[in-house]
Amino acid sequence: MKCYLCGSSDHKLRDGKVRDNDKLSILECNNCSLVFLSSLDHIDESFYEESNMSEGQNVQEWLNGTDIDDSRRFEFVKEFLINKDIIDFGSGAGGFLLQAKKIAKSVVGVELDNKVREHYKNSSIDLVRDIRELKNESYDVITAFHVIEHLSDPIKILQELCLKLKKGGKLIFEIPNSDDALLSLYKNKAFSSFTYWSPHLFLYNARTLDILFKKINGLEMDFIKYIQRYPLSNHLYWLANNEPGGHLNWGQFIDSVELNSAYEAQLSSLGITDTIIAQCTKV
Ligand SMILES: [Zn+2]
Repeated sequence: MKCYLCGSSDHKLRDGKVRDNDKLSILECNNCSLVFLSSLDHIDESFYEESNMSEGQNVQEWLNGTDIDDSRRFEFVKEFLINKDIIDFGSGAGGFLLQAKKIAKSVVGVELDNKVREHYKNSSIDLVRDIRELKNESYDVITAFHVIEHLSDPIKILQELCLKLKKGGKLIFEIPNSDDALLSLYKNKAFSSFTYWSPHLFLYNARTLDILFKKINGLEMDFIKYIQRYPLSNHLYWLANNEPGGHLNWGQFIDSVELNSAYEAQLSSLGITDTIIAQCTKV
């Protein structure tokens, strides 16, 4: 299997397993470090249409679960949203757009999940299934939170997204980091049997993101920022108990704003946070 980004056939098997599909293995390119699953065509649009991303939750439960991330993302990008035309690509239950709508000129979600249609209608948020349904080609901002890792042909889709932006427009996105400390530094076996998931076809780090975006005509990377979504309590719990949920069980007596801020800064300096945010400009 050739690497999608660099074409090399030289890859290694990563430790761990794909939690929902025993048949898949996790590969890492020895040339560029792109992480990818051993099959890229086991998921199609029907997987997303049939609400597999929300794992049995109703829309309100889904919104409650994304509330902290929605608010953090809104705070991070809000200066770009004021009186602007916004697309949220892979908008899920719409929690980010509900906040963006209050200050933007217009917002539209792109989402395949059939379950959310009624909710968008009731919230007066425009929704399309496919980016190509949007005829306007002069949007100011496109956001994509935890979407790019799901795309089997990200170059093609990012090129289509770029066409929808006006000159100077921004693409701002968030993805999981393939160099997450629990994998790359602590090498926690239980975590490596938990974190990989069949819809995450590719996992990127700063290096492979840079290679990816150099292939997109008209988009230039402004910055990559490392952020840590899960606090120190979560990592200590994985190391002690080999289980998730440490922030719920131990957070109350381990976590503090100061401690987690210092921990995030340290992980950032090593490039091994769990999450990357990046911003590109259409030139
Ligand atoms: Zn490669």
